[in-house]
Amino acid sequence: MRLRGKVALITGAARGMGAAEARLFAREGAKVGLTDVLEDEGRLVETEIIEAGGEGMFLRLDVTSAEEWGSVVDRVVDRFDRLDILVNNAGIYHYATLEQESEEDWDRVMDVNAKGVFLGMCAVLDVMRRGGGGSIVNISSTAGMVGGPRSTAYNASKGAVRLLTKSAAVQYAKEGIRVNSVHPGLTITGMTPFAFPNPGQLESHIPRVPLGRSAQPEEIAYGVLFLASDESSYMTGSELVIDGGWTAQ
Ligand code: NAD
Repeated sequence: MRLRGKVALITGAARGMGAAEARLFAREGAKVGLTDVLEDEGRLVETEIIEAGGEGMFLRLDVTSAEEWGSVVDRVVDRFDRLDILVNNAGIYHYATLEQESEEDWDRVMDVNAKGVFLGMCAVLDVMRRGGGGSIVNISSTAGMVGGPRSTAYNASKGAVRLLTKSAAVQYAKEGIRVNSVHPGLTITGMTPFAFPNPGQLESHIPRVPLGRSAQPEEIAYGVLFLASDESSYMTGSELVIDGGWTAQ
């Protein structure tokens, strides 16, 4: 098992990619603290993991709250004794051009997608340091690398995650804490209708992806697993692009 003996905390794990990561990490031997603001869905994922013989604990966490981060990290460490892996996966999308983007929506997207990652990394550094190191995986996007026509705040937030990852990687490498980013392309999840709100929009996008299809959440989760595990022990500050060739064009 690729994560045997490790303890992981995953945000936004009630559905989509976060849920796929939680299930996969548990199958690979990790004890998983899975968190989200969606409590019912999160508890269903927790039950699935336990019924499959894994170890998982759901906790409510709004990633924009420093206070909630503090208590969730404490509870994971109380229950599982340590923390080796953080996956900052929670995110939201807002569909708007620059002029359509309201200040309120800008703040909301930046709070969840960028500030949430900042708060999460700050919350786990001490416990990882005490444990002799760790791996932080921040979920950015291809939208953190190239612009989209109506992804104003989302582009800004995911670009922030990309460089915040490198900044943290450089700062904490000497303490054995690795920090890498993952850049998924189109993956069908609960977020998809927000990114492609108009009829036919998704259908016309897919043929423009070189591999000619969208990703399954599990195909992203395998990349996150690699960065979370010791298999990637010489990687920090790196970008793992999993996008069917989208940004190669
Ligand atoms: P999703 O909407 O299915 O999952 C996102 C999860 O984040 C949800 O469970 C949601 O409840 C949770 N969340 C939202 N706000 C939160 C908050 N304040 N605190 C805690 N949790 C919160 O979407 P997904 O596609 O699985 O997205 C996962 C990550 O992947 C996101 O960061 C997203 O930006 C990124 N991403 C998605 C795609 C895609 O095509 N789906 C592509 C690139 C990157």
